Amino acid sequence: MKRAAYFTELSDKRIRCELCPHRCTLSPGQEGICRTRANRDGALLAENYGHIVALSMDPVEKKPLFHFNPGSQILSVASFGCNLHCPWCQNWSISQERARGQYLSPENLAHLMKERGAGQIAFTYTEPLMWFEYILDFSSVPLWESKCPDIVLVTNGYVNPEPLEELLPRIKAVNLDIKAFDEDVYRRFTGGELPVILDNARSIYQAGVHLELTYLIVTGVNDNRESISSFIRWVAEELSIEVPVHFSRYYPSWKWKEPPTSLRLMEEVLREASGILEYVYGGNMSGGQDTHCPGCGFPVIVREGYAVENRLADGGRCPSCGRHIPFIDTQRRDGT
Ligand code: SF4
Repeated sequence: MKRAAYFTELSDKRIRCELCPHRCTLSPGQEGICRTRANRDGALLAENYGHIVALSMDPVEKKPLFHFNPGSQILSVASFGCNLHCPWCQNWSISQERARGQYLSPENLAHLMKERGAGQIAFTYTEPLMWFEYILDFSSVPLWESKCPDIVLVTNGYVNPEPLEELLPRIKAVNLDIKAFDEDVYRRFTGGELPVILDNARSIYQAGVHLELTYLIVTGVNDNRESISSFIRWVAEELSIEVPVHFSRYYPSWKWKEPPTSLRLMEEVLREASGILEYVYGGNMSGGQDTHCPGCGFPVIVREGYAVENRLADGGRCPSCGRHIPFIDTQRRDGT
């Protein structure tokens, strides 16, 4: 563990944590809503620091990131904890509990990456923004000398502007979860505030960090068609029609037992979104994973499970019509 950043000291050894908008006020002995930060005798500690509960190599498409180093593997790591409490969470045993793990310093994680020849790392599975201090330290270990590996966050985006601004220059790509596009629904089911997420999505995009969005369509929660239509329009108007959006099919998990998202709804949403946005994908379903050139319709990337056939021409262009397709490929070529 480590002393946490972003807090205000109050009277009687109480501390207000300022990392995320919950702004928990903690008396000695109390933990925050995220369960990762605690007041220990008047000091705010990041108790998840270096505490690894999951570590594996994954296809980058699993994050999901479809326009970032397609077909590559990425070291994926997590600690425990999350500042939102979605009742359908698939990773609830590590996001909502203080799961057991092992300590790995940022330097040791860096050495492990070198040993495995991993050129990119995703902080994922739970909420990486609650691992703020660890990710910052990892990004600056001396082993990297001038070039840190690409860092990816798979996140709910619920963080205050100052820490986000400090972290973003170290981050290469983000997949941001939009849990609902209705403020009441967002608050009721997750405990967070939607406007914060939308502001942060804009900040990430404007900072030039590669951004993809995921909208898990959860039966009985965020599957209202009007609300989904508003989300699609928001992406087009506030971000860009080039931002890739993944609509994923929900399956029952943890406390949420409603039936899986209907395939008919998935298909309707994908059709509607594809009429406005240029890169729309279906998740947890068959079909809807290929990337088509928005100019001529040529399938520039074909995906079958996690097998990826990249047909992009050099410079990230459609081999059929030559249109530029926004892809980042830090391992071979840069299409942005
Ligand atoms: S990071 Fe955790 S402790 Fe800090 S305000 Fe958010 S939920 Fe509370």
